[in-house]
Amino acid sequence: MKTKTSIRTSWRLIWPFLKNRVVAMFAVVVLGLLASVGPTAILFLLSPLWKYVLFPGQEVELPESAGVVPSDFISDSFDRLLGWVAEGRDLNAVEFPEEFRTTALYVIVGLAFCLALLSASSQFAFTMLSRWLSLRVVVDLRLSLAEHLMSLSMGYHRARRFGDLMSRVSADVEKLLSTIQNMLRDFIEKPANAIFAFTAAFIAAPRLGLGILIALPLLAVPIGVLSRKIRKRSTKSLTTLGASVQAMTQMFQGVRTVKAYRAEARETEAFRTVSEKYLKHTMGMVRAIATTDAWTLLFSQGGLAVLLLPIGLLTINGDLVSDPSKLLIFFLMMSRAYTSVKGFTKAYTKVQESVGASERLQEIFDEKVDVVEADQPTAISSLGTGIRFEDVGLRYGKEDDAALDSISLEIKPGETVAVVGPSGSGKSTLADLLCRFMDPTSGRITVDGVDLRQLSRDDWSATCAHVDQVPFLFHASIGENIRYGKPGATNAEIEDAAKAANIHEFIESLPQGYDTDVADAGGRLSGGQRQRIVIARAVLRDAPLLILDEATSALDTESEVKVQDALDRLMANRTVLVIAHRLSTIRNANRIAVLEDGELVELGTHDELVKSDKTYSRLHSLQSLSGGAGILTPHSQAESHPPASETC
Ligand code: ADP
Repeated sequence: MKTKTSIRTSWRLIWPFLKNRVVAMFAVVVLGLLASVGPTAILFLLSPLWKYVLFPGQEVELPESAGVVPSDFISDSFDRLLGWVAEGRDLNAVEFPEEFRTTALYVIVGLAFCLALLSASSQFAFTMLSRWLSLRVVVDLRLSLAEHLMSLSMGYHRARRFGDLMSRVSADVEKLLSTIQNMLRDFIEKPANAIFAFTAAFIAAPRLGLGILIALPLLAVPIGVLSRKIRKRSTKSLTTLGASVQAMTQMFQGVRTVKAYRAEARETEAFRTVSEKYLKHTMGMVRAIATTDAWTLLFSQGGLAVLLLPIGLLTINGDLVSDPSKLLIFFLMMSRAYTSVKGFTKAYTKVQESVGASERLQEIFDEKVDVVEADQPTAISSLGTGIRFEDVGLRYGKEDDAALDSISLEIKPGETVAVVGPSGSGKSTLADLLCRFMDPTSGRITVDGVDLRQLSRDDWSATCAHVDQVPFLFHASIGENIRYGKPGATNAEIEDAAKAANIHEFIESLPQGYDTDVADAGGRLSGGQRQRIVIARAVLRDAPLLILDEATSALDTESEVKVQDALDRLMANRTVLVIAHRLSTIRNANRIAVLEDGELVELGTHDELVKSDKTYSRLHSLQSLSGGAGILTPHSQAESHPPASETC
């Protein structure tokens, strides 16, 4: 984990999404300030209320030494206004008739109401706009995150833990939402409130205000230290949250295996361990937050208590003959300022909490998109002279062993090449490279003599169809699942594809036919039916190149025949690279490429390879011993990778 943790990390992440919305941001600031002015300004009406309405003629000038002086500017302005309303009446007169006091009361109440209206409407607009802005940023951020993640190669996705990714995209982004809301609301409103209130208190009683100002570092320094702790612990808390989501995802994804091995208790125990870790790290963060809150409270309440001392002593000594209304304003303002400071520190700690989340999200954005469109991509509509792997090598990470090493292989148009080899020998990697789910780290793959990296990605995607080992269906209707192969296909085209894939009759037998939702039909869809829906999707794609990862799980005989028949039809008249596990598929291939430890160790027809007495003949004899028509290369389901997209 990088150590450069600061609020700047969050800002750097958010800024690209905010920079096009500066007008809205400016409006939020103005509205936030307006909403803060009202509640503070309203307190200034206390003084005239006292002076002209409640206790007229009782004001006593304060000695300068008392530290409490009248707020001349505001008083004068109010006096002018009142004088104007009372039609030039002498406000210095000691006697105030009832009629004048009533007028003054009306003016004060009217002003208070106007201020309330101003604050309320600005507050409403502020809340709406700031919430909209933060939600907008979060939605844009999620979209951009999804876009970026989808553009990352299979190398990234294969290595990534699904649970961790989900936790980042959901929990971390949520955390960021609260940060932005805090930044917009509490980083504007609270400091503005505090500054207004403090200024007002300062005007009412400058010396007392100065005393508070001097004491402020006592609040700020410990909070600075604590916030660093919060930041660090929050990162730990989020990482462990990711691990616990990962543990839970794995438990649910593999529920069948867990149950088969009666490992429910083991799995929940593993989940408990990571959850306890999460609790521990989060509590570490909570402790720092609680200390910050308590310190702010101690400073504010204790500070007020300490302040009472000089005021009380001065008053007892008769030195402080104060205008009680000014003192009242001072205390009200100070308590308002403290509330705002408290709100601000709370928001500040919340933002610190989310710095870890920002970092983890920034990590995703920093991940380089490695499969990119060429500057001037070459258009392609067929395989031309065919496909050539020229000395192709791939390492997943710089430190990793080569998953594929110097593979040279030619696939002629119309040819079916079967790839076989033990688990981990590099078969899926080879298929992923041909699909351009990732690019080779050495050598190149050419199509009709052109480097795959130079080809238009859209064209290449239209040229090849990929059928994965694990049939992946989206949560949509069966018809839509097939249409995925060719967006905009007509119902007739979908039915034709389903017929070719031997699944039409079954779909028709469902009460809602092609409109049946896969989620509703989930329980009723057998493995073979799922495979045939996926095959129909590839039939509809009608691409000249088919990359097929043959299913390893055994189906019942009837399903097997139907799937095989559908596959035969799909493979006919196409160029095929098949990761083959069944002897029948391998026998029917034009050539067989045998991989071992990432190297191409044999290449030839079935008969040639059986005679050569090397890896293939060994695998073949094992197969013959086990009964013939089944699976050639054992490849356990637990090792299967997350389902790849269906087209390259
Ligand atoms: P196969 O399909 O024949 O089982 P793979 O192509 O999946 O083999 O894997 C080839 C090698 O690459 C294996 O040693 C595997 O451990 C390694 N490998 C696969 N995916 C990754 C990854 N994301 N990061 C690091 N190594 C990987």
